[in-house]
Amino acid sequence: MIETIPVLVIGGGSTGTGIARDLALRGVPCLLIEKRDINSGASGGNHGLLHSGARYVASDMEAAVECRDEGDILRRVAPQCIDDCGGLFVAVPGDDEGYIADFPGLCDRSGIGCKALDPQEARELEPVLAESLVAAYRVQDASIDPFMLSLDNMAHAMELGARVRRNTRVTGFDIENGCIKRVRCCDDTSEREIIIEPELVVNASGAWAGLVAAMAGAQIEILYSMGELLVTQDRLATRVINRLRPASDSDILVPGGAVSILGTTSVRIDHPDLCRPSIAEADAIIDDAKAMVPLLETTRYIRAYSGVRPLVKSGNAGDDRSVSRGFALIDHAHDGVENFVTITGGKLTTYRLMAEKTCDLVCAKLGVSTPCSTQTEPLPASEKAMWTEPGRAPRTWVDKKSSTDLILCECEMVSAGVIASIVDNMGEMRGRSLLKAVGQRSRVGKGPCQGGLCGLRITGHLYDSGRVTDHHGLHELRRFVERRWRGFAPVLWGASLRQAELQDALYCGMLDLELEDESAS
Ligand SMILES: Cc1cc2nc3c(=O)[nH]c(=O)nc-3n(C[C@H](O)[C@H](O)[C@H](O)COP(=O)(O)OP(=O)(O)OC[C@H]3O[C@@H](n4cnc5c(N)ncnc54)[C@H](O)[C@@H]3O)c2cc1C
Repeated sequence: MIETIPVLVIGGGSTGTGIARDLALRGVPCLLIEKRDINSGASGGNHGLLHSGARYVASDMEAAVECRDEGDILRRVAPQCIDDCGGLFVAVPGDDEGYIADFPGLCDRSGIGCKALDPQEARELEPVLAESLVAAYRVQDASIDPFMLSLDNMAHAMELGARVRRNTRVTGFDIENGCIKRVRCCDDTSEREIIIEPELVVNASGAWAGLVAAMAGAQIEILYSMGELLVTQDRLATRVINRLRPASDSDILVPGGAVSILGTTSVRIDHPDLCRPSIAEADAIIDDAKAMVPLLETTRYIRAYSGVRPLVKSGNAGDDRSVSRGFALIDHAHDGVENFVTITGGKLTTYRLMAEKTCDLVCAKLGVSTPCSTQTEPLPASEKAMWTEPGRAPRTWVDKKSSTDLILCECEMVSAGVIASIVDNMGEMRGRSLLKAVGQRSRVGKGPCQGGLCGLRITGHLYDSGRVTDHHGLHELRRFVERRWRGFAPVLWGASLRQAELQDALYCGMLDLELEDESAS
């Protein structure tokens, strides 16, 4: 099977989906391919902090200003994805006094709003803060829903003519006369090979960018820095809380709808596929962060997850925090491959700017003069993304007052009607697990049961509605539970441990799922 397309975008994270939309708005047809699902990489494994820039004022003023400007743009064009909750930077005894003293001046020089608060005033705003606070500043941080952002970008791109293939992995390039002539891909659902003949290829594969570039004979030296995050059962604070110290582990608590997300760490790994949350990191995060918010020592954690930052190496970086967290846009004409560009690194906060710069380069190569319009063109809220919003499913269910629309996920109150709407909106692209794809597009599996109860009910519903048959449903359930288990395992104490024992009884005791034969599916 051979497909031709002007631009092929590799990678369905925030950068790739942002590029697809930017190109579509400029009238350039593109196909986006993603080896798994939208936001399967770092875009689905991050803190969800829309940086005000204050975190970078001391280490990288350029990045700080970029974050400030991009945050302002996203608030205007994509308000549906943002909880504009504000943020605090707080210091506790022992934190670097020089850093604390310099912070307001550096914010001022970067044009980043920062207001000094009396520590007591900060504690009135956020009662979970430690009594021992020694300094506090208010900044304009916010939280952003990365899933809604990428799904909205992809939906708008598709409305404008872009195409997407999920579960499709690039496996190689055929190079002729210094250009990529053919891209070889594998459709992981059908296991068929697909050949794509593009005019130009954009490598937006995040931490995998070096591995993809190497298939075209180009070299990008990338360090892989894994970060772990912990999800609390409740939302502990209204605002983002940052530790006022040079970037370190366990510095940030971000509200994520009804929960709070605590992190992160920076651990070097050898390959992006080796990214897994661990018990040791979970313990270390809590141990460190409790000085800022004592409740973090005793609160219930429902899940851990992790993501990989691709740090593009330049010079002799001592440790991972000294390597630039800015983005790298590479024109591989310098490596002898004319129609190939890579964009990697950066932040979720700056994804739009990364997409703009990439599309400027792509359009220059293709001779397209239409300018970028994503700074001003509102990102439409799509039906494909709406169910990632915490609280939307229960509100809709209550408003509808339908006695026949059963609640399938009780933690997040997601009904059968919502599941049907998500599946219908996905079209044919179910991939290898419909249940997992539903989880990616909704709050299913995000509450305290972590999919333990709703996974079972939704699978039953998918069987009842004929969307899964034979062994497929059970097989999908097993994959879903395995995936959730990966996040559950590092936080197994107290109530979460009891919840896990219930899951064990359900899935192994009743369904014998540990015995399910992979080959049966
Ligand atoms: C722990 C952590 C916390 C973070 N917190 C924040 C934060 O709070 N705020 C912020 O602004 N930024 C944050 N970031 C950074 C942010 O998450 C990333 O900059 C951003 O998500 C990168 O998006 P991306 O699309 O470039 O890469 P990714 O999201 O990694 O997307 C790359 C995609 O390419 C796909 N792919 C790879 N190989 C292939 C192939 N061969 N064929 C097809 N597809 C392929 C992958 O499956 C993946 O989906 C954080 C990062 C980490 C790791």
